[in-house]
Amino acid sequence: MMDARRDTGAESGQIVISIHSEPQPTDLGDVRIANRAVVLRHVRLHAPCSRADIAARTGLNKATVSSLVAELIDQRLLRETGLTENRVGRPATMLVLDGEPYAALGLQIGADELVAVAIDLAGNRLLTWRRAFTPGTVSATETLRALAALARRAIGRVAAQGRTVLGLTVGVPGLVDPAGTVPSATALGWQEVPVAADLRAALREPAFTIGVDTVANLAALAEQRHGGHAGTADLVHLTGGLAIGAGIIADGRLLRGGRGFAGEIGHLCLDPAGPPCFCGNRGCLTALVGLPAVVRRLLPDVEVDGPVTDYLPEVQRIVALARQEDPAVLSGLAEIGRHLGRGVAVLVDLLNPEAVVVGDHLATLAPWLLPAARSGLSARAHAPGAGGCRLDASTLDTAAALGGATAALAGVEAGRLPAR
Ligand SMILES: [Zn+2]
Repeated sequence: MMDARRDTGAESGQIVISIHSEPQPTDLGDVRIANRAVVLRHVRLHAPCSRADIAARTGLNKATVSSLVAELIDQRLLRETGLTENRVGRPATMLVLDGEPYAALGLQIGADELVAVAIDLAGNRLLTWRRAFTPGTVSATETLRALAALARRAIGRVAAQGRTVLGLTVGVPGLVDPAGTVPSATALGWQEVPVAADLRAALREPAFTIGVDTVANLAALAEQRHGGHAGTADLVHLTGGLAIGAGIIADGRLLRGGRGFAGEIGHLCLDPAGPPCFCGNRGCLTALVGLPAVVRRLLPDVEVDGPVTDYLPEVQRIVALARQEDPAVLSGLAEIGRHLGRGVAVLVDLLNPEAVVVGDHLATLAPWLLPAARSGLSARAHAPGAGGCRLDASTLDTAAALGGATAALAGVEAGRLPAR
C-alpha cells in the first residue's frame, strides 16, 4: 500500500501525505485515527456488516465502534443499508462504505496515451478516459500541461456529480522520489521533473493531496486490490510499455527500497551483445521485451516512415499476424517470451512471489509470449516449480491509473477524515 502519514496533524484543512512512511500512533488522537482505519478496512472487506460484527471481529469494544461508526456516517464514509442479519436476537442495522460523496483519481503516462481513472470509496470505477498522447516526442512541460488538462476535466466531471476529490496520484514510467519529483525517466527523456509540484501549481493548489509514483508500483497496487490475484501477499506486476519495471508487493506491502527506486528490473542485462538500450547499455530486459523493441523486432518495416510514436496500431498488427500464424512473428514472439521468462526468473529467485502478472503490451501479446516465458521461467528459476510462482497476464484495463486512484484513497483508508 501507499501508506499515508499526515505531516500536519489536523483532520481538516490542507494536509500533506508522505507516501513513503507508515502512520505511527503516538497519542489518543492517533489511536482514534488508527481505529477508524480498522473499522473502514473491516467494512471494505466484509460489507455489509453490523456494528456488533465489527466489534466482534476487530476486538474494538462496542462503545468505541458505535462512536467511530457515528462519526464515519456523519462524514459520509459509511452508510446504513437497512439490511438485517438473519440471526437470533434483535435485527442489526448493516453498514457499507458510502460510495456517493467522494472520488479518487489516478492518472497514468502511457507509451502513447494519457489515462485518467476515477473511483469511489468502494473502488467502483466512475470514469476511465484514455487520450492519445505521445510523451516520448514532446517536452516534460508539454506532457505535464496535457496531464493537468486531463486532470482538470476529470475533477470537473466528478465535482459535477457532487463528489469531493480525496486525492490524485500520477503514475510515471521512471524513478520517483518521495517528494514526487522524477529524477530520471529515461524512456521519456526526463531529468529532475518536479511532477507533483508542477501539477499542484497547474491545479491551483487543490485541497486534496497529489501523489506521484511509478506506473509499476501503482499497477501492482491495482493488482493486489482489484486484479486476478487480488489479496495475494507476495505479488509482482511487470509493466510493459516503453520501459519494463517491476512493482513488488512483498508480505502485503509495496517494496520501495531506501530511496523509493526498487523494482527497476528493466535494465537488467540479459545479453551483453544484445540490442542497444536507451539507457546506454546493451541487451537490457527493456531492450529485448519493451514495447519499442518488440515492435521493431516483429515489424521490420515499421520505421520506414520514421520513428514509431503511436504503438497501439502496431501492436494490433502484431496480434493480427500472430493470429494468422505468420511464422516469423510467431518465432519472434517465442524468442521474446524466452527473454521475458529469464527476466521473471530473476524476480522469482530474489522474491519468491506467488504470482508475477505482466501488463500492457506483454498482456496483449500474452497468448503467444507466456508459453515460452513459462518454459524459460521453469528452466531458469532455481526453486523447483519456479517456487510455486504463477506467471499470468493482467486482466486489468489501465492498471496504473486504477492503482493511482486506489493509492489516492490511502489517507482516508488510514483513518484520516477528508477535508470537505
Ligand atoms: Zn537499459
